Amino acid sequence: MSRAAFDALLASVADLFEARPILQNFAPFPTSLSWAGLSYKPVPAAALVAAWDCEGDGPEDAVHRAAQGVVPHADWRQTYTEAEVGRRFLDTYGYFEIYGPSGHYHCENARGFVAYWGAGLSYDWHDHLAEELYFVLSGSALFQTEGEPDAVLSRGGTRQHAPNQPHAMKTQDEAVLVFVPWRGDGLSGLPKMCG
Ligand code: ZN
Repeated sequence: MSRAAFDALLASVADLFEARPILQNFAPFPTSLSWAGLSYKPVPAAALVAAWDCEGDGPEDAVHRAAQGVVPHADWRQTYTEAEVGRRFLDTYGYFEIYGPSGHYHCENARGFVAYWGAGLSYDWHDHLAEELYFVLSGSALFQTEGEPDAVLSRGGTRQHAPNQPHAMKTQDEAVLVFVPWRGDGLSGLPKMCG
């Protein structure tokens, strides 16, 4: 059942917050959530997430596996059009909103996504009003933020973005799975490409 799979994912994220204070310090784990009953909406990349096994026993691994558990139930989204990012990007990228204003669990004061990018993708410069934390669950990528040095981040690595601070990302020879909480103004918004 999809609800059970999402409950397991939510519990694994709560455990991750307990284990990794940087998440709690960015935004507390939401306490008032209601099941929104979103429908399954597939993207091509969902199959890549399902096929990406991980064997560790850390809290990031638990979220990775729980995310695999919701692959066939998630309301997968892609913010961008083919004209903006190209077909290959759309074939190997996708995300879903675990909790938030339009998440599988509804809440108005917090938002958290799981996002996947396949190997060899370039996610061009974009921004959004809400503050954001990237928390890498699996794999790695080169993270770029205006005004800060580039950094390759892997499991447990984080990068925080201020309101409307442009950022970009490049995956190299492996995919990356990221947990992405938002906070502050613009919580219901979406990223947009710069320029
Ligand atoms: Zn962002």
